[in-house]
Amino acid sequence: MANHVVTPFRDPDHDHGLCVDEALKLAEHNCAVKGVRLTRIRARVLELIWRRHEPVKAYDLLDELRSERRSAAPPTIYRALDFLLGEGLIHRIESLNAYVGCGDPGHPHLGQFLICQQCNAVAEMSDPDVTSLLQKKAEHLGFSVNWQTIEINGLCPECRESPQVSG
Ligand SMILES: [Zn+2]
Ligand SMILES: [Zn+2]
Ligand SMILES: [Zn+2]
Repeated sequence: MANHVVTPFRDPDHDHGLCVDEALKLAEHNCAVKGVRLTRIRARVLELIWRRHEPVKAYDLLDELRSERRSAAPPTIYRALDFLLGEGLIHRIESLNAYVGCGDPGHPHLGQFLICQQCNAVAEMSDPDVTSLLQKKAEHLGFSVNWQTIEINGLCPECRESPQVSG
């Protein structure tokens, strides 16, 4: 079965600067194609979200931006987040009330997110088999699906190798 990976788990030693560069380049390209403006603040918020492969909360973004420009206020952040969400450049992880960058913003998709409970790393899949299976099962119950986002908690490859004893 094909693995429809949008954003994989990355090796901790990978050159993350390349991920950020790639994400910003993709964002610029996609905005240019759609004729929408990736303003400096929008690009900066996207860059901050891409700082790690982990979900980022809005107030952490606000803290970060305030240290750069004192005029940054919650509406500034929320407007930028709305834009980035609307353009598919980021996704919202509902269970954590936080945001992650999307590795493939050019192609609209429904995501399945794998969330590491130990280090917070997130990988994104978009597997049409999963999507249509859930849709069929829901239809069986007379339910019509508008949208689906799946959030799955567990351990990433890195943390599986060195699990922390909890408790
Ligand atoms: Zn990276
Ligand atoms: Zn995505
Ligand atoms: Zn992990």
